[in-house]
Amino acid sequence: MSLSKSKYCNGLQCKKMLWLYKNMPEEISELGNQRVMEQGNLVHEVAKYLFPGGINIPYSENLNEMLDNTSNTIESYKNVVITEASFNYDNNFCSVDILVKKGDEYEIYEVKSSTTIKDIYKDDAAYQYYVLSNLGLNVTKVSIVHINTEYVRHGDLDLNELFIKEDVTEYVKKVQNEVKNNIKSINEYLKQESIPKDDIDLNCFDPYLCPFFDYCTKDLPRNNVFSIAGMPVKNKMGYYKKGIISFEDLENQRINKNYKQQIEYELYDKNDYIDEEEIKKFLQELTEPLYFLDFETFQMPIPLYEGTSPYKQIPFQYSLHYIIDNKLFHKEFLANGKGDPRRDLAERLVQDIPRDTCVLAYNMSFEKTVIQSLARSFPDLSEHLLNIHDNIKDLMIPFRKRYYYTRDMQGSYSIKYVLPALFPNEESLNYHNLELIHNGVEAMDNYAKLASLDEKEYEWTRERLLRYCELDTFAMVKIYEKLQEVTNLKRVLK
Ligand code: SF4
Repeated sequence: MSLSKSKYCNGLQCKKMLWLYKNMPEEISELGNQRVMEQGNLVHEVAKYLFPGGINIPYSENLNEMLDNTSNTIESYKNVVITEASFNYDNNFCSVDILVKKGDEYEIYEVKSSTTIKDIYKDDAAYQYYVLSNLGLNVTKVSIVHINTEYVRHGDLDLNELFIKEDVTEYVKKVQNEVKNNIKSINEYLKQESIPKDDIDLNCFDPYLCPFFDYCTKDLPRNNVFSIAGMPVKNKMGYYKKGIISFEDLENQRINKNYKQQIEYELYDKNDYIDEEEIKKFLQELTEPLYFLDFETFQMPIPLYEGTSPYKQIPFQYSLHYIIDNKLFHKEFLANGKGDPRRDLAERLVQDIPRDTCVLAYNMSFEKTVIQSLARSFPDLSEHLLNIHDNIKDLMIPFRKRYYYTRDMQGSYSIKYVLPALFPNEESLNYHNLELIHNGVEAMDNYAKLASLDEKEYEWTRERLLRYCELDTFAMVKIYEKLQEVTNLKRVLK
């Protein structure tokens, strides 16, 4: 097996992972996130303009074609910028995101869509330096190019502000012997014919969750320490290493009461826990008319609109249920997919939610952040927006504080667990019954396509987006009703 940048980095995280990729790829349980990959590609494309006029080496299944293409380009120019320049030293292949040739000196720029530098990026760069320097290239500088979250777009994109170039030359030179030894030991390891016996450890989660984690833990009891919601990975691994693995093992440990509750409810199938007094107190703080709000947003590493920053949440849709005089109403907003959706959305929001009304969100920090950001962007609407912001309360509280807990919540207070736990047989609350869009990521992806669809597809997709978001707030209404029901405060909505 020849190595590449990504294989080398996988091998550094865990050699067994690389062995499994090679020999048992069918055991991968989490496929790569397509969205993250697409965003990474976009960042790579934009970063190339940091060095205008570069020559791109097109991708080819035939690596020799890329290698030949690279060496021809290098030979043809004294000074040149090459993107995806490809090299092979002793079966170690790499493509350099951006290679700058200045006479007989070379600079490597490794582009990342992240906002900070991880150690693994430096190791990736060190591998590239190893390949190029062993081929006799005089590499004088190695940098990692990543996104600057402080950047705020004003007018055209300012690439020198959007990207940070961090010089890691000193580090990559210092670790060249380690790179050599790592490559040797990875190659030796991969020669094993039988499945390696390496046990799980903290490296299974760092720097990335390993896609073979389910495979490597397949023989553990179904409910084990890794199923405990909210427990830090370091603690889980600590118990695992001591052989305290099953819920039965954990039951008598001195652990946080929330973990204990999850374990006991699972082991003994206990009745639902309902603290009526606390739930009543929570409900009594809510006043009608009562609004239920949920936003859909997208995030882009490259800020598209005036005044926005990388990865800022851009709201494009909301759903709003509201109760007045014990009757339920619904309003909604969805942008058309063209241009900046924020102004239209903000204007509609202040029309739809009157000042000084109680608004419920589930995990309100998200809705609050979005509204705060809208208020900053549109000073003429900010007083009303901030009034909405200040009146938001969190429907998650009774579950986060465990005033209400059932076994099926599996230790979590996320709406993904709470909703089916409270309404296991309610088909109208089952996201799987929706067409096309079943979660926020699918909403984001389909919103991104809206503007390119023909009229019929546009209308169909738009309707699916609306129904998805509507279910988000309808689910909140049902949870609110459930809280009333269990505390005998229920009023049947008309
Ligand atoms: S789960 Fe852990 S031990 Fe298993 S392959 Fe992945 S990193 Fe290695």
